[in-house]
Amino acid sequence: MIEQTIAGYLESLVDIRRDIHAHPELAFEEHRTSALVADNLRVLGFDVTGGIAGTGVVGSLKCGSGGKSVGLRADMDALPMTEATGLPYSSTIPGKMHACGHDGHIAMLLGAARYIAQTRDFEGTVNLIFQPAEEDIGGAKAMIDDGLFERFPCDAVFAMHNLPGKPCGEFVLRPGSFMASADACSVTIRGKGGHGAMPHLTVDPVVVGSSVVMALQTVVSRRIDPLVGGVVTVGRFSAGTSSNIIPETAELEIGIRCFSPEVREQLRGMICKMVEEQVASFGAQCEIAYDYGYPVTVNSVAETEFVRSVALELAGPGNVHELLYPFPVSEDFAFMLNERPGCYFGLGMGDEPDRPWLHDPCYDFNDSCLVRGSAIWANLVQRYLAH
Ligand SMILES: [Zn+2]
Ligand SMILES: [Zn+2]
Repeated sequence: MIEQTIAGYLESLVDIRRDIHAHPELAFEEHRTSALVADNLRVLGFDVTGGIAGTGVVGSLKCGSGGKSVGLRADMDALPMTEATGLPYSSTIPGKMHACGHDGHIAMLLGAARYIAQTRDFEGTVNLIFQPAEEDIGGAKAMIDDGLFERFPCDAVFAMHNLPGKPCGEFVLRPGSFMASADACSVTIRGKGGHGAMPHLTVDPVVVGSSVVMALQTVVSRRIDPLVGGVVTVGRFSAGTSSNIIPETAELEIGIRCFSPEVREQLRGMICKMVEEQVASFGAQCEIAYDYGYPVTVNSVAETEFVRSVALELAGPGNVHELLYPFPVSEDFAFMLNERPGCYFGLGMGDEPDRPWLHDPCYDFNDSCLVRGSAIWANLVQRYLAH
């Protein structure tokens, strides 16, 4: 049985995971980490290609003459924060920490690599994709732009994230949207400055901006289907220097999240139009810069049902659960899912009440989930590329 064999790797997987944990590297700086990954894959007999989008690595293994192919992705970057766990294998670098468990994601995929390389019980090509820069700057997009899927064709792609708060070893699945899109909109409002005592001679951008902020509150509450939802947050509103000066400009930074690609486009249109019309109604001008960030993470139905069947076989029905609502966080694997069918799913890290969540300075990946995580990858490869 796959899981029993992989249980024999546990000690070495823990060593790999804690070594990476102690040496965290931020987005696109994952040089040590990607060298470690490449070395491990080479020893196992994979064809290894490094330097994809900088620090990305793909390990490919082909068996038999089958033309099917599958891509499994792990992210490698750490976060710019200081670890507070006090663990013996804590980050050795102040201000950098594996607080999202990407150290565990790497170790789990390397555990699967070892199993599939040793057993070679499949027909087709496995591409193990080790991606830089998941947090914030889009390493997945950079790898795609660097020809990922042309160089390493994948019929489908899969990725998994650890989930504190869910029982250890449980799988969490959802066809359709799994995580939110995350976009940002910067607005500069240009009014006419002047003396605070003579407002009638000015166009006050503080008042215009305040009106824009209030109007934006109606976008989600009045214009988007409440059963679909979304989030519009004005996270920054900056203007002025003193109580007796009406400034020339005001700046807004707006964060926008939602759970469907259609609503994402609706929100963009509504927000831009609302800002323009509000500003114009006061006789002011504005510049709007709308930045698309991570898309909605959308799982294709067939591939999600495939993962479900693999997870059920591995973990049993009591350990495979449907996620009722998508997570409001976002994930750049969404870019890969825009290119290929596939599924992003969760692996429970333990539901103890005091277990810190992702991005917490006391977070640590739960090593007792390493075997289960490696086993689902190995199982998935054998089933997807069955003889
Ligand atoms: Zn994260
Ligand atoms: Zn993460």
